[in-house]
Amino acid sequence: MNAALPLAAPSALAPIKPSLAGATRTELGDALRTLGLPAREVKMRAAQLWHWIYFRGVRDFNDMLNVAKPMRILLAERFTLERPAIAAEQVSSDGTRKWLIKMKPTGPFDKGAEIECVYIPEADRGTLCVSSQVGCTLNCTFCHTGTQKLVRNLTTAEIVAQVMVARDRLGDFPGGVAPTDGIVPSGEGVRAVSNVVFMGMGEPLYNFDCVRDAIGVLTDGEGLSLSKRRITVSTSGVVPQLEALGRECGTMLAISLHATNDDLRDTLVPLNKKYPIHDLLAACRAYPGASNARRITFEYVMLKGVNDTPAEARALVRLLKGLPAKINLIPFNPWPGTVYECSDWETIERFSDIVFNAGYASPVRTPRGRDILAACGQLKSETEKLRARARMMLEESLAVGLE
Ligand code: SAH
Ligand code: SF4
Repeated sequence: MNAALPLAAPSALAPIKPSLAGATRTELGDALRTLGLPAREVKMRAAQLWHWIYFRGVRDFNDMLNVAKPMRILLAERFTLERPAIAAEQVSSDGTRKWLIKMKPTGPFDKGAEIECVYIPEADRGTLCVSSQVGCTLNCTFCHTGTQKLVRNLTTAEIVAQVMVARDRLGDFPGGVAPTDGIVPSGEGVRAVSNVVFMGMGEPLYNFDCVRDAIGVLTDGEGLSLSKRRITVSTSGVVPQLEALGRECGTMLAISLHATNDDLRDTLVPLNKKYPIHDLLAACRAYPGASNARRITFEYVMLKGVNDTPAEARALVRLLKGLPAKINLIPFNPWPGTVYECSDWETIERFSDIVFNAGYASPVRTPRGRDILAACGQLKSETEKLRARARMMLEESLAVGLE
């Protein structure tokens, strides 16, 4: 009878060794306690591990030279330092890199979620755009991520691991080797990954605890050591979480505004029906730590014939009056099947002039990586399409073989 049941491969049911790459200090302490380490030693040993994992970026417990050999063996028996894998990479002619990152399966029947991560090098900085969720529940009509089916929150470790994967790939850990086929910032003392923006897949404030804990790991001065001022959390406007974000994370804030009246914003960013523009801007006015030196960025995607008139540029300026704000005009990145188009360049310039004359400097974000499927969410769907095509071809050739 059993013969009819599809049997899982034995490896599929083997217990998965947890990786410590991406762990918080508390999690590292807990891991050490499970190895039977006496309580008085846990803090010191966790600090050692922390240094090796986050400052040095080691991937093998054996390289942890000041950790006693029996301890290294014990660690390797129970844990790994594995990172999620890069399932696909594209390098643009302007040096932008886009990675499809495959997360480790969470159980025997999980194939491993895939998310996107984009690296944008500039002369004086390298910005990594990270994801906070697999997909997004919010369905903004111009955003490709909103159309993807599978949605789950990423764990703290999965968020941190995106930075580790990028630093591995870019040779940004001590002793690492930079890739030869791209551009990495070369300024004195500039790290390949100097800035992080939560502008990949997902709504970071719908995964607040993990995003906050990940920011804690990323900014820890004894590890990855990123500056809080070089981390920006972008939100579509989850008003009730803004105060906690400012207070508990102290990072920079970006608001995806995209419209100057509620009717239009209700369509573009449906979350607006719950938290309309007035409430959103009130929460921005109360945002802890906002000042002229730490301005809030307002993102505005330029959609042809939808939100790009001079009257709307003037309305935008009026709306933000009195707020310590920066405005970021984003040329729309089209994706297959979208009904929107990017505004013409002259329209963007006219809009940007009005904003500029009102005192906001250089507001248009240069499109990067256009030659490598620019819009957020596209690498994933393109790869899925390729896989579907490969599957189809395989099925066709099998069918031919059976004839
Ligand atoms: N969910 C968060 C962060 C991820 S989206 C948010 O909405 O803010 C990051 C930014 O990319 C947002 O400003 C979003 O509106 C913008 N965006 C999404 N799709 C885009 C597209 N196709 N072209 C240009 N910008 C886009
Ligand atoms: Fe989600 Fe942001 Fe895309 Fe809206 S723009 S669907 S909130 S990822």
